[in-house]
Amino acid sequence: MPSLNLYNTRTRRQEPFQPRLPGQVGLYCCGPTVYHDAHIGNLRTYVFEDLLLRALRLSGLDVTHVCNITDVGHLTSDGDSGDDKMEQGARREGKTVWEVAAHYTALFKRDLDRLAVIPATVWPKATDHIPEQLALVQTLLAKGHAYEAGDGIYFDVASFPRYADFARKDLAGQEAGARVAPSGAAKRNHEDFALWKHSPPGQRRLMEWDSPWGRGFPGWHIECSAMGLKYLGEQFDIHCGGIDHIPVHHSNEIAQTEAATGKSPWVNLWMHGEFLVLDKGKMSKSGGDFLTLQSLLDKGYDALDYRFFCLGTHYRAPLTFAFEGLAGARAGRLSLRKRLEPLRALAPPAAEAIQAAQARPLWAKFWDQVADDLNAPRALAVAWEAAKDDSLAPPEKAALIAAMDRWLGLGLLDLDASVATLDPASEALLTERAQARAAKDFAASDRLRAALALRGVMVRDTPAGQEWERSTTR
Ligand code: AMP
Ligand code: ZN
Repeated sequence: MPSLNLYNTRTRRQEPFQPRLPGQVGLYCCGPTVYHDAHIGNLRTYVFEDLLLRALRLSGLDVTHVCNITDVGHLTSDGDSGDDKMEQGARREGKTVWEVAAHYTALFKRDLDRLAVIPATVWPKATDHIPEQLALVQTLLAKGHAYEAGDGIYFDVASFPRYADFARKDLAGQEAGARVAPSGAAKRNHEDFALWKHSPPGQRRLMEWDSPWGRGFPGWHIECSAMGLKYLGEQFDIHCGGIDHIPVHHSNEIAQTEAATGKSPWVNLWMHGEFLVLDKGKMSKSGGDFLTLQSLLDKGYDALDYRFFCLGTHYRAPLTFAFEGLAGARAGRLSLRKRLEPLRALAPPAAEAIQAAQARPLWAKFWDQVADDLNAPRALAVAWEAAKDDSLAPPEKAALIAAMDRWLGLGLLDLDASVATLDPASEALLTERAQARAAKDFAASDRLRAALALRGVMVRDTPAGQEWERSTTR
């Protein structure tokens, strides 16, 4: 298979991917701040990262995938001011910060599972890595890259001359008057950022730890450096996130890590997913104006409709969410499944069949799209071409589609939409119908079938019991 050509934010070029060590890849993806539900914008980024992970594994590489869980230190403003998001979540819900973190971590993983996103190899939590973060801050102080400024320890960006390079920032254009830390403490440079914050004098925070500088809590960026270093080393292959991370979070991660280790580049390949926006503008958790995956399911959509919707646009292009678009994605996914229906009855496809003369060119064409910076929309078009190609023998076609689906992750040949979930009301109707059938109350069972059809859930009776699938028309 041709090697992957991936766009590197660091060099602003698409480059052939070369792992540092033959056959092995270290991949770090910035994970969620678990104070609230993930919104569908966040989930778009995890779907993109899943496509990357699958492409690497399908290329035969052994990937260690680290996705952190931010359960402390992410303030409501990127400028080191405002509330800690976790404490805000705890107050909002009348729970402890630990309960809030556990709750939203579980919901996040459930969302990923519904979207067929492959779980990370390691899910390190920021609060489990306070000693590693403290050690990194101490190294930076010892090497003259950090200083104390009133409310915390700050990184001195002037001590790291490459600071502006990653985001191509124009530091000279910054206003001189902005060099004040949130507490009023003087910062040396406007872009200096907190590595560690002191607990406010006379106050106990919900989350705070002892440090050589008194009680306090880590800055947000330091956790990713500490956990990246711990799990993937002083230099590794790929680091991902959404594009919002380029100017602040990732610029800061690079500066503090490379300043501490003296090695550059920390990470060879930096990849960023473009944003999902609502047709009326940006999604904002603080403004409460955002959609969750659950809210799509409650409207009767399947999580895989949303995955299909994401795959319809290249990860480096902005994507505007609208329900008409999601309905179109669902119709597309279901008609592709319908076309493949006869293949589902076949014995599980043999992987070698994609080497058959008819299948090989289509597989090569598909992989060319994957290798071209994960071009999902064009890869989907090739999957359609394969589905419609009547010159392929069914076992070969099944093998080809199964191979493509190992990258697409759409469950195209699954017997039922197994990753699909039903909204609670439809679930209840299905249970009621199963009971009616068991009691041989066929009038009730027909009435319930019609009620489910109205909800877009088509029920079929099989010797093994009732099966359901979503209709394409709702
Ligand atoms: P957060 O939980 O806010 O730290 O974000 C988790 C991930 O979602 C990060 O990689 C962000 O860059 C990404 N992200 C945030 N908002 C959006 C959006 N509207 N569209 C796509 N990705 C986003
Ligand atoms: Zn991060």
